[in-house]
Amino acid sequence: MSKGTPSKSGGGKTHIRCRRCGKHAYHIRKKRCAACGYGRGSRMRSYSWSKRH
Ligand SMILES: [Zn+2]
Repeated sequence: MSKGTPSKSGGGKTHIRCRRCGKHAYHIRKKRCAACGYGRGSRMRSYSWSKRH
């Protein structure tokens, strides 16, 4: 038990690989990526506080 997925209660992952940004941040139940916002629409995730300016 040093490597691998600990899957405690029968598993049930919430995030998978996002096909847009490639990060492991796509929420399955929400159907949205937490990193790039894939699933919410066609636009990339953008907030006023995170805008690089
Ligand atoms: Zn993403």
